[in-house]
Amino acid sequence: MQNLFAEQLEALRADSLDRHLREIGGAQGPEIEVAGRRLVNFSSNDYLGLANDSRLRGAAISAINKFGVGAGASRLVSGTQTPHLRLECALAKWKGTEGALCFGSGYAAALGTIPALVIKNDVVLLDKLCHASLIDGAKLSGAVLRVFPHNHMGKLERHLEWARREYAGKRILVVTESVFSMDGDHAPLRDLVELKKRFGALLLLDEAHAVGVIGPNGRGLAVQENLNDDVDVQMGTLSKALGASGGYICGSRDLIEWLINRARSFVYSTAPPPGIAAAALAAVEFIASPEGEERRLLLQERIKLLRDLFLSLDVGRFNSANKRPTPNPPSQGYGAAGARRSTLNENAGSAIFPWIVGDEQAALDFASALQSGGFLVPAIRYPTVAKGTARLRITVTAAHQEDQIRALFEAIRKMTKHE
Ligand SMILES: *Cc1c(COP(=O)(O)O)cnc(C)c1O
Repeated sequence: MQNLFAEQLEALRADSLDRHLREIGGAQGPEIEVAGRRLVNFSSNDYLGLANDSRLRGAAISAINKFGVGAGASRLVSGTQTPHLRLECALAKWKGTEGALCFGSGYAAALGTIPALVIKNDVVLLDKLCHASLIDGAKLSGAVLRVFPHNHMGKLERHLEWARREYAGKRILVVTESVFSMDGDHAPLRDLVELKKRFGALLLLDEAHAVGVIGPNGRGLAVQENLNDDVDVQMGTLSKALGASGGYICGSRDLIEWLINRARSFVYSTAPPPGIAAAALAAVEFIASPEGEERRLLLQERIKLLRDLFLSLDVGRFNSANKRPTPNPPSQGYGAAGARRSTLNENAGSAIFPWIVGDEQAALDFASALQSGGFLVPAIRYPTVAKGTARLRITVTAAHQEDQIRALFEAIRKMTKHE
């Protein structure tokens, strides 16, 4: 047994695909200490700098004082504590849906929700770049699974025709993300809604990297595009821009009631700690407030700064086959594997800047050179992204100072030899 794992690990190392944990001795923030060294942190999804915010901490502490630490059991068994209900009311109001339901994580939300929506002989159509949680949820459902090339509406249309023909009378679920987690580009939501309506399919939109970042008061892509009522299932996480932890589903009252009955990761898992729900509620209230909108606009300024800096290099498009040692610097809206540009890329406004290097070891080398320069930027490799599309994933937050962003840009400019 032990030998088996040693061999498997050795194979990972040989392919530069081994992963390791790094210890962080303090809170998340624009600077963190790694192995005794302060680094400017461009690795986290804490887009609004809320993970260590005093409002969230205060809310968590008072809720712990009143409700204790553990939730005791599943919400259907031990009863639902007030912070969870208040959070769900606030989420539904903020997202403009009839109801909301919280899960222990975004991953658990996907794993519980998709199998509650479709079963064997139904069909799930997934964007190629969908997050692992969506893929796993789709697999677990036992439905027939088809993947369409990233944001390729023509291919999705053909899959829909095929599904209607071959699985007549069955349910079809289209699954995609509003802002893609490793590329930072958007789904063409208007086209998706047109297709899903034409074919009578359901649409699940994962807004994990959109909420708190795009749309008025950070309400995400569906609200920004005025398509809130056309997205059947809006998924998201409380763990990124919202700075806390947990996942959620927003949608109709009936959908939420169905999930309370049928989403196994909800029914068979202990409720999230009430202190975390209270912190997430504080985050939603903050983001929905004028001060929260100001914070989001500050994030948009930071995003624009980095985008303008990279654009000033006048680089060409990313190329999936780009394995040169001095790749083009990062840009937004050019997905992996020759992705079609989505319609919204010009004003994408996403905080994710992928710097696609191609080669796995090259990505690790760039990450370690940046770390020596005082920056934490993660190398993202297979299986998180396709083989040969390894990248550095830079995330900008509202908590970064302008000079930190300029310094990162200078470091990358030197490394890519755009002098
Ligand atoms: C992070 C992420 C999730 C999972 O959310 P967690 O709360 O971290 O479990 C789901 N979908 C996407 C697109 C994500 O980026």
